[in-house]
Amino acid sequence: MIRCETVDKWFGAFQALRQIDLVVGRQEVVVVCGPSGSGKSTLIRCINRLEKHDAGTIVVDGIELSDDVRNIQEVRREVGMVFQQFNLFPHLTILENITLAPRQVRRLPKDETDSHAMELLERVKIPEQAHKYPAQLSGGQQQRVAIARALAMKPKVMLFDEPTSALDPEMIKEVLDAMVELAESGMTMIVVSHEMGFARAVADRIVFMADSEIVEVGTPEHFFTDPQEERTKLFLSQIL
Ligand code: ATP
Ligand code: MG
Repeated sequence: MIRCETVDKWFGAFQALRQIDLVVGRQEVVVVCGPSGSGKSTLIRCINRLEKHDAGTIVVDGIELSDDVRNIQEVRREVGMVFQQFNLFPHLTILENITLAPRQVRRLPKDETDSHAMELLERVKIPEQAHKYPAQLSGGQQQRVAIARALAMKPKVMLFDEPTSALDPEMIKEVLDAMVELAESGMTMIVVSHEMGFARAVADRIVFMADSEIVEVGTPEHFFTDPQEERTKLFLSQIL
């Protein structure tokens, strides 16, 4: 579903990604972790072309990311993204936030997008919030709206960049629960997160990045019981 081969990314003289090789299969859940500044966000931003890689190949569902604008629009439609900050439109209701892209990009009729949005709100367990505005919701509720909004475009892949790190502790679980449900439904997911309980529960593989590289990749079992690299061991000793 996603294939990165020898991907490099530079910001001026600084190399943010070095020779990244990563293949994510259909319905696979990959958790990416690693120290601050290691390139995790840059990697997933390259996968949906929020950043442009400088060398190597990135293919998403058969579409190679290149300068061809049509490719990028196509990929953006297939890839949903959820950020640390929820980025909801403050002047739109929850329902309007979720239906905006399907109506404007896919040109679907309002009754169809509204009923799909309500199904998604049921799925993330906040149907009663549909007619409120983002500021009236808790952080955990807003992040679940952000997930529903991404799902409204019926993506084939979901990318998450530290979706729970801006949340108060009591709200983390409700967002992780929604992500677990999504993983179990068979969604292909790449999740940048340090929530190791989540990783243990649903990750097929964990990718550990440091210093712009992938240092180690393995199953949660491998990762938590038998990490091979010194940098992985040091990182795990700091976060576990
Ligand atoms: P964190 O855990 O803090 O989110 P990260 O692993 O996501 O870190 P990135 O955001 O990918 O790290 O950044 C990797 C490196 O690239 C950092 O040194 C960062 O300063 C640099 N960087 C990221 N974006 C830019 C940019 N637009 N311009 C210049 N440098 C950048
Ligand atoms: Mg980041």
